Amino acid sequence: MTIIDPVAPAQVNWLRLASCSLAEETQRLLSVRASRHRFEICGFIIGENEIVPAINTSDTPNKNFSIAPEETEKYGASITGIYHSHPSGFNGPSHADEEGMKFLYRAGCPWRYFIVTSGDVIEYKWIG
Ligand SMILES: [Zn+2]
Repeated sequence: MTIIDPVAPAQVNWLRLASCSLAEETQRLLSVRASRHRFEICGFIIGENEIVPAINTSDTPNKNFSIAPEETEKYGASITGIYHSHPSGFNGPSHADEEGMKFLYRAGCPWRYFIVTSGDVIEYKWIG
């Protein structure tokens, strides 16, 4: 018997990876840092696991993040990932995250995309 679900699944263009590519220790450090702030922390991952914090320049840092272009230029091609936290504890991508992932994907940027909460680090991948 075939069961057809009458409700179409929500169309999303990203994947929540089953396991985060960051080392356990790196994930733990990011979660601890995130838990200490009421605003979104953000920064880059260099190589496999090196955390490089950046200043969140957003006007609404409690619910968004923004990184100055000079910060990106400083590390250039050595950047392999970008992270930010969600102080609310919600570990799914916001609309702004979807737009950010889409922008990076369309620009051909290979960065990994991490959302950090005080409880975990989730890696997302835009699939177009
Ligand atoms: Zn976010």
